[in-house]
Amino acid sequence: MKTFDTPLGKLQVEVFGHASVWFGIDGKSIYADPYSEVHDYTGEKPADLILVTHNHYDHYDEKAYSKIETPRTTFIVSQNVGRVDNRYTVLENDQVCTWQGIEIAAVEAYNVNRRNPAGALFHPRGVGNGYLLDFGGFKVYLAGDTEPIPEMQELPKIDLAFLPKNLPYTMTDEEFLKAANLIKPRYLYAYHYFEIDTAALRAGLDPGIELMN
Ligand code: ZN
Ligand code: ZN
Repeated sequence: MKTFDTPLGKLQVEVFGHASVWFGIDGKSIYADPYSEVHDYTGEKPADLILVTHNHYDHYDEKAYSKIETPRTTFIVSQNVGRVDNRYTVLENDQVCTWQGIEIAAVEAYNVNRRNPAGALFHPRGVGNGYLLDFGGFKVYLAGDTEPIPEMQELPKIDLAFLPKNLPYTMTDEEFLKAANLIKPRYLYAYHYFEIDTAALRAGLDPGIELMN
């Protein structure tokens, strides 16, 4: 587990694998894309908030939710995730809400080039979300399943970024580095990867970006 100082207090970060990330702050637990194939959530802290980027099985996983959700769990989800009840808030791209003092914005996440064998983009524009979490000025960017996209140029100063890299769904290592060097987060995690060469990634990052993997 890593800890970062934010204006709202210490932010704890645990990466469970694939796109599954946990944040702890001020006694609250936030899970992004919990995924039971990479982690057994039995015994993990109850979820106050679960963020879901999109409806693919490796991001929307009710088996994982069953281990951490309570009647008080809030869900913030993209469109098209399936069940929606009064604990669910759907955020579409560019919509913003505030949860427990944390500003949460849904940002764009999509493929430009990468298509399935039938010719459809794995992640069409406007469907899935990335999330921008603002902890009192400490900004965390969860990119979601995306390629490098022009909208990344419009992001605010990012303190901590999670960028995906795996083919054929998201970015190559070269695209990952291009996106990272464009966004210039202070701290960076690669996530959603099948394999990783941290030395090669480190060598390609601009100075001032610390790879946390
Ligand atoms: Zn996906
Ligand atoms: Zn995915």
